[in-house]
Amino acid sequence: MIRGFYIKVFGIVQGVGFRPFISGLAKIYNLSGYVLNTSKNVEIYIEANQATLSLFLSDISKNKPANAIIEDIKIELCKNRKNIKDFSIKQSQLNNTIIASIAPDSNLCDDCLKELFDKSNRRFEYPFINCINCGPRFSLTIQNPFDRKNTSMNNFQLCEQCNQEYKSSDNRRFHSQTNACWKCGPFYEFYNNKKKNITENPILETKKRLKKGNIIAIKGTGGFHLVVDAKNHSAVRKLREIKNRNEKPFAVMSDSIEKISLFANICLQEKKALLSKERPIVILEKKNNNIISPEISLSLNTIGVMLPYCPIHYLILKDFLALIFTSANRKNEPLIHTNNKMFRSIEMADYLLIHNRKIINRCDDSIVKKYNNKITILRRSRSFVPLPIKLNFNAIPIIGCGAHIKNTICIANLSKAYVSQHIGEIESIKSYEYLLETVHNLKKITGIEPEYAAVDLHPHYISSNIANEFNLKKIQVQHHHSHLVSCMVENNIDGDVLGIALDGTGLGTDYCSWGAEIFICNFKTFQRMASFEYLNIPGKDSAIKAPWKIGISCLCQIYNKIDEFYPFFKNIEKEQISIILKMIKNDVNIHKSSGMGRLFDAISSIIGLRHYSSYDGQGPIELESIVFQGVNDYYQYDWIKNDKYTILISEIIKSVVKDVQNNCPIGLISAKFHNTIVNIITNMSTKIAKEYDINKIIMSGGVFQNRIIHDGIYNKLLKNKFKVYSHSKIPTNDGGISLGQVVIGSKKIK
Ligand code: ZN
Ligand code: ZN
Ligand code: FE
Repeated sequence: MIRGFYIKVFGIVQGVGFRPFISGLAKIYNLSGYVLNTSKNVEIYIEANQATLSLFLSDISKNKPANAIIEDIKIELCKNRKNIKDFSIKQSQLNNTIIASIAPDSNLCDDCLKELFDKSNRRFEYPFINCINCGPRFSLTIQNPFDRKNTSMNNFQLCEQCNQEYKSSDNRRFHSQTNACWKCGPFYEFYNNKKKNITENPILETKKRLKKGNIIAIKGTGGFHLVVDAKNHSAVRKLREIKNRNEKPFAVMSDSIEKISLFANICLQEKKALLSKERPIVILEKKNNNIISPEISLSLNTIGVMLPYCPIHYLILKDFLALIFTSANRKNEPLIHTNNKMFRSIEMADYLLIHNRKIINRCDDSIVKKYNNKITILRRSRSFVPLPIKLNFNAIPIIGCGAHIKNTICIANLSKAYVSQHIGEIESIKSYEYLLETVHNLKKITGIEPEYAAVDLHPHYISSNIANEFNLKKIQVQHHHSHLVSCMVENNIDGDVLGIALDGTGLGTDYCSWGAEIFICNFKTFQRMASFEYLNIPGKDSAIKAPWKIGISCLCQIYNKIDEFYPFFKNIEKEQISIILKMIKNDVNIHKSSGMGRLFDAISSIIGLRHYSSYDGQGPIELESIVFQGVNDYYQYDWIKNDKYTILISEIIKSVVKDVQNNCPIGLISAKFHNTIVNIITNMSTKIAKEYDINKIIMSGGVFQNRIIHDGIYNKLLKNKFKVYSHSKIPTNDGGISLGQVVIGSKKIK
């Protein structure tokens, strides 16, 4: 018997070619009815018998479009059959409850890539070519549902041919909301730094100028990049000067795996990550051959590399081995995404390649790295956002405000948490404005109106201002508790766990900085079971930029006289040293920190590797970079037990000092130090977990970005028969804090 059925499909089903797919499927089964987007889902009505319905449903799940993610399908019988004659795609239906998920941006698909370089195709070399399966989504979406009028394509009227494609059910651009061509779509223009449009052929001109060593600001899908030829040393140096970025590595883009393998080693998993539709920056091991400028990632053994993701990248990269693609922003300011703002910062580039489509949600490139055979996201941004994270309980409407560096926010309600794109350091008015813009946009896209704000314990984090700006009830959450809970959520773990937080800085409940902690915790509470001994940090935050201050202070904590160690700091002025010594002696402007990042800073200074740091975590990153392979030695250590275990640092520091005085190679010292930390954390965690009969161990915090520390602890704990969980989908650094905050915040209120 033929009956009418309503089928409601939930998940990422808009902007991914879902309706055309359904309409095609209905044709195959010769079904009548309709499909439409609503604010919550895709709604289908078909008239069929039970057997055909079953086949139709299984086809939906099996053959769904590449970028669709189906979370749920609900079927309802229609009481009175509508007797519809044909099958159609109907006008979208809006209502007030917006919960349909917007798809993230997707890289150019193979079909479009073929057309891009096909001389006979009408979109030959068209830099905005896209189809139902590919192109920008989140970055150009103003609001739900995903229809052209709700995106920044709303200014572009489809030409006759494009409209024909849009209307024909057998075309791969059938109902493509972002359809465009040379005639009707957005276009690029090339400007010099006098704001003059200087050529008819912007792409050819871009390539010419890049060859000459110029810096070009190129507008992409999520924002502007500054682009230079990666083989040109002086161009790279000029870029460093302009960006006021002395040493921090740049990411590069090449258009094939073959080209990348000329300057980096790629394993199978890394290759898969490079080629994935998210097209993230993958941190690879650098080959030591200087085929591209060594200035790109100074003093590191790694390099960040990505493959092209939008048509313009392919068009330009064809003629180059690799180009630097670094986000266009001033130090401590967010990514530039509008033509006007780029023109106002024109001194950053020699030329501008701009287009006339608005970027609604700016989005930095995402970053991943391989740990223990697992590709792990270190910056979750373009092509991952705004995919929701599933919660195993119902959250209250809440926003997590994040921390201070590498910031993200997170908006949650019921079973979904939406972590924003990377916002970055909140250290300027512009980055604060970006923070607020992100809150506004994410609220609009998710349709969630938060009533609570979960904020860090730290009283001076600017991100916590969101609570006041939006008049929300505040809930304070400890930093490392948030780290650990974010890792529990992404691994779908609940209940009591042992949590290892190895991190830079986060305020503790005793008003000291924490960052090398072992907790027993759950979604709601935590107990501090062990931590490292506090280091005296002189000059508070200024010491993070000058690790020598931490090095000296660390020595003062252990030795009565430190004159004999002055040669360790031979590049530092005597006068500066005596100021710091006075501060330590009189206990002025000193704060206490158990941060593992600070201990790494101290070691990197004591061994003479890095006294000043020009970017976050530079000392620790370089310390990892110089490690000698195959070393099993480690240093001895002590601990004491009061209300908790405290791991003492004096034995470790004394051994390091002895090795330095014996002219031991710093690569060997670094290896021994890394092994020591791995041993301490593994032994202490094992001891406590056994004592409290816990078998799940969680690892989180920025220090786990260090591969030796992560893999070492992970594998040793696994050997000790624990279930061990670390991050892969959510950053282990402060980019994951906001997710932990919404979960803890929700649990504290309920
Ligand atoms: Zn395509
Ligand atoms: Zn057109
Ligand atoms: Fe942190």
